Amino acid sequence: SIPLSFFAGIGGASNAGVLVKGSNYLETLSETKYVVFDKTGTLTKGVFEVAGVHHNTMEQSKILEYAALTESFSSHPISRSLKTAYGKEINQNRVTDVEEISGNGVTAKVDGTPVAVGNVKLMKRIGVEAVECHQVGTVIHVAIDGAYAGHILISDVPKPTSKDAIANLKKNGIKETVMLTGDIDRVAQQVAGELGVDRVYSELLPADKVSKVEELLAKKSEKEKLAFVGDGINDAPVLSRADIGIAMGAMGSDAAIEAADVVLMDDDPMKIVKAIRIAKKCMRIVY
Ligand code: ADP
Ligand code: MG
Repeated sequence: SIPLSFFAGIGGASNAGVLVKGSNYLETLSETKYVVFDKTGTLTKGVFEVAGVHHNTMEQSKILEYAALTESFSSHPISRSLKTAYGKEINQNRVTDVEEISGNGVTAKVDGTPVAVGNVKLMKRIGVEAVECHQVGTVIHVAIDGAYAGHILISDVPKPTSKDAIANLKKNGIKETVMLTGDIDRVAQQVAGELGVDRVYSELLPADKVSKVEELLAKKSEKEKLAFVGDGINDAPVLSRADIGIAMGAMGSDAAIEAADVVLMDDDPMKIVKAIRIAKKCMRIVY
């Protein structure tokens, strides 16, 4: 039989906006020693602002137009910011052959011309040499008709409570905090440094995130549990692979809510600290 205090624990958690799918997850949560975070949308706001369009041969406004049209079918936060920066009505009839390559970017044809919008990996894939950009931020490269056109510098900022959440996890018995991201190393290091994350792995494709979590799981003892926290965009497989998967933001994808063991009603990282505290308190009452 399930001890009554588990119900109290689950109820208390849900009052705090933390939905726990079963009493076993309260126990796992209370034994968590490693917390692995996805970056974009989890530790950062996932709201990018276009900081500038650097052109090579083409007019800046043209580059932004091609980029926004190419991304018009995507729901990635980068796509949303490009569409906002473009600011004009988008005629999706101009866009065909759309292919979104997760962790890389998007390729499509705009008015019949092939366009690629994404990171250096995407440029390599299509055989285009990208021009280096040394400014801080996520660099989105644009190739039009097989030639490099320019890049768009966009920046994503940490959530206001991310730093406190990381510090509080350490105070609540978490041995190590880790950040995984598909973003470039320079940006990843900057965000991790700013937030006080112990360890960071960058330039990961969604499948690499699963392998990385498996690697971390293999290194620790069975008794120490590993939690993965994500926003659900491309990370459902990681959510299910961790000892405990925590999905942030109740409006997250259905796939994430399905794959997660714990669902946070809002996207405040402090809720993770809260969840672990509630779980520990509950386990102290049970035993
Ligand atoms: P994170 O791991 O931080 O959550 P993602 O895996 O969603 O980030 O994306 C990693 C990187 O892949 C982005 O920083 C960007 O360079 C590129 N990328 C992904 N999706 C897109 C897109 N729709 N448009 C342009 N670039 C993209
Ligand atoms: Mg993500």
